[in-house]
Amino acid sequence: MLSGMSSTGPADAVARAEEILFSRPYRASRQVQNLLAVEASDHMHGDGPFGASATRRLSELTGTSVLLTSSGTHALEMTSLLLDLGPGDEVVLPSFTFPSAGLAVARTGASCVFADCDPLTGNIDPESVAAAMGPRTRAISVMHYGGVPVDLDAVGAIARRWGVPVIEDNAHGLGVRLGDRVLGTVGSLGIQSFHDTKNVQCGEGGALLVNDPELLARAEIIREKGTDRSRFLRGEVDKYSWVDTGSSYPPSELQAAVLDAQLEEFATIQERRHAVWSFYAQALADWAREHEAVLMRPEPVHAAHLFFLLMPDGRQRDALLRHARARGVHATSHYEPLHTSVAGRRFGRPAGELAGTLSFSSRLVRLPLWPDLSARQQERVVDAVLSFQPALQREGAGA
Ligand SMILES: *Cc1c(COP(=O)(O)O)cnc(C)c1O
Repeated sequence: MLSGMSSTGPADAVARAEEILFSRPYRASRQVQNLLAVEASDHMHGDGPFGASATRRLSELTGTSVLLTSSGTHALEMTSLLLDLGPGDEVVLPSFTFPSAGLAVARTGASCVFADCDPLTGNIDPESVAAAMGPRTRAISVMHYGGVPVDLDAVGAIARRWGVPVIEDNAHGLGVRLGDRVLGTVGSLGIQSFHDTKNVQCGEGGALLVNDPELLARAEIIREKGTDRSRFLRGEVDKYSWVDTGSSYPPSELQAAVLDAQLEEFATIQERRHAVWSFYAQALADWAREHEAVLMRPEPVHAAHLFFLLMPDGRQRDALLRHARARGVHATSHYEPLHTSVAGRRFGRPAGELAGTLSFSSRLVRLPLWPDLSARQQERVVDAVLSFQPALQREGAGA
């Protein structure tokens, strides 16, 4: 147990060992060995052999150009630099997403226009996007919640009508395929995150997927402190110098060593996560029908990144979270709408009421989901939900 064993004494450790954490990072069989190889080498900075190998694996998985970054947040920040966003510009993005999507826009001086989401999937609503567009709009940023694809045809049509690029935050949906499309590679730019809560993790890490070939040369420069060092390393120029804006975005070789080991086991990770997902879906189906709860749908595809259910209202959601916690099951909510956050109000505005977002966010419960959840732990998670009686909770004191 990560946090459990570090506490005060043996009794405490035993009690805490029964807690089922919401998320635990996957350990790939070769990651320690890879780390020792880096330790023994003289190459600790970015873009060494493991960086090259992880990049190759990601390019094969996605079929596009990949630049590793030190986080998903940094990859999002790179998209803003590549599009030269600045004061007076607007980006349309979901209110229901991680703050980094808004931060990447705000830190350039541009503003966020928050669009609504579909109240069943949490994905951006194309009608709300259409209503949010205007002459200042420079890009549409979308996020595939749980790796369930956003309606990219509808969003793409709006983007073409206004002549702006689409950015895909695919932090949840690594390698998800829909027909001949791979999530993260449909828009001009996509991003992945390898934070330790994600399906594939290296502690902190990310990647920029560059799908518009015209952006690739500049993306390499922005990633390398505004220099043409990437061309120098390929022997295309005989020295490198400062040529553009940028920052230091590559992960170190230590992170890449872990990432490479994880990518090697991607199929196993996905198989195990999907097994847990399917167990929950099947075990909770009758309960959901009886209690007017809505389970996350597997169609058309998803990444088994998360399993969510929607309670009939926010009060019942909060009651279910407390009920599960009392049974040692760390179920949890998710994003607070960005348009109601302190920084979201300062750096952006909502495109309307965003009723879908408020409903989805307030009714959402996510269940623990990680590859090494034992059968017994999965049953305890299910029991924590099945034993919840909304009717009794409503009447009961303090529920
Ligand atoms: C995790 C996540 C991010 C941020 O990624 P980091 O690697 O933690 O910076 C951005 N967007 C979404 C949807 C995420 O889930």
